[in-house]
Amino acid sequence: MSATTLSQVVTRFAPSPTGHLHIGGARTAIFCWLMARHYDGRFVLRIEDTDTERSKQEYTDSILASMRWLGLEADGEPVYQTKRFDLYNEYIDRLLADGHAYWCQCSLEEVEAMREKARAAGEKPRYDGRCRHLGLGPGPGRAVRLAAPLSGKVLFEDMVKGHVAFDVNELDDMVLRRADGAPTYNFAVVVDDITMNISHVIRGDDHVNNTPRQILIYQALGAKLPVFGHVPMILGPDRQKLSKRHGAKAVIEYEKDGLLPEALINYLVRLGWSHGDQEIFSREDMIAHFDGTSLNSSPAAFDPEKLLWVNAQHLRAASPEDLLPRLLPFIDRAGLPAGDQALVARCIPLYQPRASTLAELAEQMRPLLLKAADISYDPAATAKALTPEGKAHVAALRGRLETLEPFDKEALHHCIHGYVEENGLKFKAVGPALRVALLGTAGGPDLADVMAVVGRRDALDRLDRAMGM
Ligand code: GLU
Repeated sequence: MSATTLSQVVTRFAPSPTGHLHIGGARTAIFCWLMARHYDGRFVLRIEDTDTERSKQEYTDSILASMRWLGLEADGEPVYQTKRFDLYNEYIDRLLADGHAYWCQCSLEEVEAMREKARAAGEKPRYDGRCRHLGLGPGPGRAVRLAAPLSGKVLFEDMVKGHVAFDVNELDDMVLRRADGAPTYNFAVVVDDITMNISHVIRGDDHVNNTPRQILIYQALGAKLPVFGHVPMILGPDRQKLSKRHGAKAVIEYEKDGLLPEALINYLVRLGWSHGDQEIFSREDMIAHFDGTSLNSSPAAFDPEKLLWVNAQHLRAASPEDLLPRLLPFIDRAGLPAGDQALVARCIPLYQPRASTLAELAEQMRPLLLKAADISYDPAATAKALTPEGKAHVAALRGRLETLEPFDKEALHHCIHGYVEENGLKFKAVGPALRVALLGTAGGPDLADVMAVVGRRDALDRLDRAMGM
């Protein structure tokens, strides 16, 4: 497959709004979106809300919000299946008129009895086609069924699975429209995919058994088949069905945890697709390389640790200007002052290499964002470093810092190291005391960086507070 042979790629993501967007669905959406973007095609979003009992507006809103957050923008407004019943009926009428569909008066109990009978005879449970030749017309309680071919095979080339074949006699005359007038899932999907000009149907392989049924509907309608791609499910690290206990969450929860959408996309795209050994992809990289090939046919396992690692890589690569607005809500949520945005901006590069999420980044900045009076001093670190000797060094340095010009990183660095050398000391006689005095903890970024970021007044306040302890 190459851009020159695929003239108009149209993909769709078709979630049922019966829950939030989870990582399996998100990965399908990413594949569909990338395929469209790679080939300069269109990506459409279809809300499959015909199951009115389980579909909820709240979930539609949540799925749309997750898609927006992930940056998987669709071309055009979302399409809702519940608004397309007239269209489905038109297609039903066409099939009835052409003899590809027929009215069926069998009750659910009768159909169940047929299935039971088939099961008892060791056969596949199926509808026996008894209304097919009755020439029935419309009437209360009547469904419409497809007059499916009685023999032969349904074949297709799957983007992921390769050659797939189903025997037609494994399929029965499926219902297209129920007695209550609602289209069945398979019928609505086919009418939608045809009328939306979908060229590539990429979805989870839990749908692969629907595909031969859908192909029969395409054939009855004389429509061209799209290319199908069924991607294997994502498994847990124990190779079992993925669930919460594996640490898998809904996309909105990852947003709350402080993951970057570009990192979540990067992590998910690699679950089932590869481009050599490359692990870290920008959005542009993915679009450039994702051409619908190199999709893995064996299921990938979800690894929360790796997700955090990928996130850390993206966090490191992002520019502080880009991170600032995304970080502010997390600073706020951590109960830290977010008002001094210039201070937050100066802190970002200090902690960027150490954090794996935005929430962690906000938390790590705590000692820098608080004023001297609000910092909490770790008792063990304080007892160890702020000894009388340690405090004496802090006091001596304080004197130098008061008049240091300019009060910038380089000058601060020279100041600290100059003090250490002139007094024939080792850095560790001074560094830990200064660190605890400035931050309240034994760890943290470079001391000259810290002081340059908080500024002279704040740095001196911190030292004063520590010396008074
Ligand atoms: N609505 C289906 C689902 O959420 C997807 C159907 C399709 O992609 O064909 O699983």
